[in-house]
Amino acid sequence: MHMNLPLSDLPSAALNRRSAVLGALGLLALPAGAAAPAKKNNNKPQAPDVWPRASLVPGGVARLSLGPAATRPKAFADDVPLLVLGDPIEWTALVGIPLATPPGEASISVRAEGNKPERQIAYTVAPKQYREQRLTVAPRTVDLSPEDEARYTKERDHLAGVMATLTDLRPDAALQMRVPVPGRRSSSFGLRRVFNGQSRNPHSGMDIAAGTGTPVRAPLAGKVIDTGDYFFNGGTVWVDHGGGLLTMYCHLSRWDVKVGDVLKAGEPLAAVGATGRVTGPHLHWGVMLNRTMVDPALFVAG
Ligand SMILES: [Zn+2]
Repeated sequence: MHMNLPLSDLPSAALNRRSAVLGALGLLALPAGAAAPAKKNNNKPQAPDVWPRASLVPGGVARLSLGPAATRPKAFADDVPLLVLGDPIEWTALVGIPLATPPGEASISVRAEGNKPERQIAYTVAPKQYREQRLTVAPRTVDLSPEDEARYTKERDHLAGVMATLTDLRPDAALQMRVPVPGRRSSSFGLRRVFNGQSRNPHSGMDIAAGTGTPVRAPLAGKVIDTGDYFFNGGTVWVDHGGGLLTMYCHLSRWDVKVGDVLKAGEPLAAVGATGRVTGPHLHWGVMLNRTMVDPALFVAG
């Protein structure tokens, strides 16, 4: 129901407006009797080399078994298509859990081929209390002028289109990611943000400390779907990895790719900077699944 916006930092008023619109779209009601009883599979044992790792908390990822099927089933969370991996022996849906999800029961719907009824698969989201972080930034990036507000609104609408990108999963997809820049990885994902004393929406990516000019490398093969200089995020590149898995890189001092470029894992795409709303140079790295920003740490080793 809630959608986590892809910007590193959004005014909460804008977030609320967007949530209201998305909430109105809602879940489609199921025809009476069409849904199979919800089945829980929270405790499925997990192989150590499986990526991303499951974390059933707001901002985490659920890995839900869909069982066997001759062809890849279609699965949805709030009508947004989910990434489904596996083979006819066992398919698994990866579900990005929005930071705004209340703890408790959640579910996805699965549509198989033919006349089989839609099924619901339930899982339980555990509570996670994220710490608060207080930051001091340029006042114009907290109290927006009418011009900046208009600019931001336009950018938000453009980015909603970028976020909805859904292409076929690359057939060789192994979803373990490399860290895009070397450097100290903060555990700042999910922190409740207070800028200049004002509450804003939570931090939805990983900040990695690195100096201006440090090359940013693709963590996984993919295709560039957006580049630009945005009000909050500064210099930004978005990469599509297929199946609704997207990554974004913000506050860049420059980028060396254009929309349509195909990248191999490890290929340089941009350089670290301090553009947009920042306190200093670093990379803000976002990972999105089913239009939901999730914790990038779940995709990297160590
Ligand atoms: Zn950040």
